Amino acid sequence: MPGSDPVGAPVKTHCPYCALQCGMEIGPGLAIQPRTDIPANASGALCQKGWTAGELLTNGERLTTPLLHGEPVEWDVALDYVAYRLSAIRAEHGPDAVAVFGGGGLTNEKAYHLGKFARVVLGTSQIDYNGRFCMSSAAAASSKAFGMDRGMPFPITDLADADVVLLAGGNVAETMPPFVRHLSGPRMIVIDPRRTQTAKLAWLHLQPTPGTDLALALGLLHLAIADDLVDEAYVAARTTGFDEVRTSLAGWWPERVERITGVPVYRMRQAVRALASAGNAYILTGRGAEQHAKGTDTVSAFINLALALGLPGNYGSGYGCVTGQGNGQGGREHGQKADQLPGYRKIDDPAAREHVAGVWGVRPEDIPGPGRSAYELLDALGTPDGPRAMLLFGSNPVISAPAAEHVAERIGALDLLVTCDFVMSETAVLADVVFPVTQWAEESGTMTNLEGRVLLRRQAVAPPEGVRSDLEVLAGLAERLGHTLATEPAEVFDELRRASAGGLADYSGITYERIAAEAGVFWPCPEPGHPGTPRPFLDSFATPDGLARFVPVQHRPPAEEIDDDYPVYLTTGRVLAHYQSGAQTRRIAALVKAAPEPFVELHPDLAEQLGITAGDVVRVTSRRGEAKAVARISDAIRRDTVFMPFHWEGANRLTNPALDPTSKMPEFKVCAVRVERDS
Ligand code: SF4
Repeated sequence: MPGSDPVGAPVKTHCPYCALQCGMEIGPGLAIQPRTDIPANASGALCQKGWTAGELLTNGERLTTPLLHGEPVEWDVALDYVAYRLSAIRAEHGPDAVAVFGGGGLTNEKAYHLGKFARVVLGTSQIDYNGRFCMSSAAAASSKAFGMDRGMPFPITDLADADVVLLAGGNVAETMPPFVRHLSGPRMIVIDPRRTQTAKLAWLHLQPTPGTDLALALGLLHLAIADDLVDEAYVAARTTGFDEVRTSLAGWWPERVERITGVPVYRMRQAVRALASAGNAYILTGRGAEQHAKGTDTVSAFINLALALGLPGNYGSGYGCVTGQGNGQGGREHGQKADQLPGYRKIDDPAAREHVAGVWGVRPEDIPGPGRSAYELLDALGTPDGPRAMLLFGSNPVISAPAAEHVAERIGALDLLVTCDFVMSETAVLADVVFPVTQWAEESGTMTNLEGRVLLRRQAVAPPEGVRSDLEVLAGLAERLGHTLATEPAEVFDELRRASAGGLADYSGITYERIAAEAGVFWPCPEPGHPGTPRPFLDSFATPDGLARFVPVQHRPPAEEIDDDYPVYLTTGRVLAHYQSGAQTRRIAALVKAAPEPFVELHPDLAEQLGITAGDVVRVTSRRGEAKAVARISDAIRRDTVFMPFHWEGANRLTNPALDPTSKMPEFKVCAVRVERDS
C-alpha cells in the first residue's frame, strides 16, 4: 500500500542510502530531483540508487500489519505480547538476557532512543549495532591519533583543491558515485586488490595481496623517512610519538614489503613522493583497509603516514574515513554502541555517566556498563550466558554478519526475536514478532553524513495506514514496561542535544531550523550562536595537549591464510546498483535489472586452472560455509583472489569473524576459500 503523494512544493530531504546523504527533493508522483544546496551532490548528481529511491515508498512487498508468529495481529496485541515476554525473560534471566541491535542507517533520534531504551527501560548492557561492521576500525584509530573521530574532519568540497588524494580500500565510483566529482581535480592513488571502477580512474593503482594493507602503509612510511620526505617542522609542532614510530619501522624495508604485498618498490616510491611533493594532499581509508582483524592498526599506519607528511589539521590536507552507511557517523555518536553514551562519550567515564544520567532522570549507577560488541553479541545469542531475546532495528544480520550461517543458528536459538522493518528481510523471516515501520521519506529525523554535517531528512509523504515509526514502537514498549519515551523526532532531538552537551559530538547548538536554513551544520556546535566546526583540527587536535599521536604498529598476516585446502583469497564488496544487505535495493526493479544476481569474479588464469568459464555456476567454500554464484572472468582481480559482492545471501557465509582486538571489527575483507565449478 503506497504512502500518499506530496502535495504542493517538492519536499527537501535526503537519500535513504549511503553516507554521502545526497540532497534530493520529492515532488508529486514521487518524482525525485537532486538538490543543489547540499555540497555533497551540489553538482546535481545522484546515483542509480538515489534516482530510484521513490520506488521504495510504493513497494508492493511493504509490511503494514504487525506479525506475531507470522500471523497478522493488532498493534496492541503485538506490543502487549513483546512487553510480556521481555518482562518474563528479564525476570527469569536478568536484564542482560535482553539484547538490542541497531543500525547505521537509523536517524540520530532513533540511535539516541535505542541507547536510552536499552539502558533505562530494559536496564541491559547488551546493545550494539551493525555500524561496528562498518567503520569501527577507523573510528578507533582516529580516536587514538586525534582524540576524536569525525569521519572526514573537513568538508567534502575541500578535496577538489588537493593535488593528490590516496584512497586505501574504497570504491567510491560504485558505492557513492557523486563522491567522484570531488576527486576530478587531484591525482588519485588507489590501493585495492581489484582494479575497481575507482581504481580505473586513478593516476596510480597499487594492487596488494588481500590482508596486507598494513604492511604497505608501513612500507610507504619507511620510504618517506628513508627518502627524507618527512615534514619535520609539522611533526615537531603538532604531533608526539614520532621517534617511537620511526624506530618501529626499521624492519619494514621496501623490498620486504614488496614480497609481502606484491606491490613493486618503484610504485610505492611513486605514491609516497607524489603525496610528499603535493601542496595539498589527503589520505582516505575505506572498508577495504578497515575490515580486518588488524583494521585499527592498519588505519593507524595510514594516519602515521599522513602525520609524517604533515597533512592532518591543515587547511586543504588531511586524513579522513569514507564512512559507508547512511548515518554511519551519527549512528556511532549517540549511544547505540556497546561502549558509548550520547555525545560520543565513553560509558565507563564517571563524568559522562553523571551527565547523561541527569538528562535521563536516573542515577549514574543505574546505567549499565559496557556490553558485547556486535559480533560477540550475535555469537552469544541463546547461549547459557548470552541474551535470550533480541530487539532488532534497521539491520539484517543473516545477510550482513560474518559467518552468517552461524549467526542465523544463534538467532534461531533465541526465545524471542523482534524485528522492526518495512519489508520482510531475511532476518525478519526468523522473527517471532515483526513490527511494520515507517521508512526514510515517511518520517523526519536528522542524519550526520560522512563529513560530520548534520542534515535534516524531512518527511515527504504520509506512511501507509497501519505503519508506525521506530520511535513509536520504542515508546509503546516503554509504556508497557513503566516508562515514558517521546515519539516526535523534534522532541527526541531536543533531548539528544542536551545529552550531547559537553561531549565530543556536541549538538547543543544545532536545531532543525538551523539545519534547514544552513543546508546542514557541522558538529561540534556547542551553543546556538556557534557556526559549527567544518575543520575541527586546524588549531589543535582533540587530545589533552592538542597534539596528534603517532601510534606504533606492526604488520601481521590475516587471521586465515591460504593453504592447500583453501588456496584462494576471498575479498568482498559492493556493486553500484545495490546497498548493504540488499533488503531495500533487491526490491527495486531497475536495480535488480542492473545487477540481478550474485557473482564470483576471478582472474582468467585462475579460471583456466580451475576449468571455469564465464557463466558457470561456481561453488566457493570456506571453513565456515559454502556459497554458489555465477562466474565472471576478469583480469581486474589478482590471480590469487576472488571477489564476491555481499548484497545477497552467500558471501558472508564464507567470511571470517576473527575480530580486531580494539575495534571488534570482523575480518570481512580476507579469508581463505576453495573455488570449484559446480557440477
Ligand atoms: Fe547519493 Fe549515496 Fe544516495 Fe547514491 S546512494 S544518491 S551516492 S546518497
